[in-house]
Amino acid sequence: MKSSRIYVVPLQLSDPSLLDPLLTYLAHGFRVPVEILQRDLNLAKAYNPERNQYYSSVILADLIENPPVNAFRILGVTGVDIYIPVLTYLFGEAQFKGLGALISTYRLRTEFYGDPPDMHLFQERLLKEAVHELGHTYGLRHCAYPGCVMNSSTYIEDVDEKMVSFCRVCADIVRAGNPV
Ligand code: ZN
Ligand code: ZN
Repeated sequence: MKSSRIYVVPLQLSDPSLLDPLLTYLAHGFRVPVEILQRDLNLAKAYNPERNQYYSSVILADLIENPPVNAFRILGVTGVDIYIPVLTYLFGEAQFKGLGALISTYRLRTEFYGDPPDMHLFQERLLKEAVHELGHTYGLRHCAYPGCVMNSSTYIEDVDEKMVSFCRVCADIVRAGNPV
């Protein structure tokens, strides 16, 4: 059997090749093999026509159903706009100390804020959100250490201000949580 790995699942992504730099970075950063997993999820049941958004927790629940036996984590990356009822929108959601995490590219694109396309900045935001949500699956809470990727991000400016890496305290917790 293949060793445990982080599976990245594209969900309604216009261009799945966006994920290539992410796969490389996550494998290095978490020191766990990373692989694409295709899942045929129906996002329609998470769609809320009044909000014109998708309920994140519904997608997340589907995402982790019947996981591959060697799934260490499952990270969904979707192009649709996601929310939970108490918030206007989300960059991502994760199960605390759990298997699954989900991020949305929808509000990470510079075009969303009326700026010219900037692939480099977009990729950086995508990495930060992926690392942040995976951090929650390792049991990390929001961290106040300046720049730590586990800083909470309400607005895109918050995402841009933090680093893509963990502070030392958070990094130690991730290392301890990795498969041996
Ligand atoms: Zn968070
Ligand atoms: Zn930290």
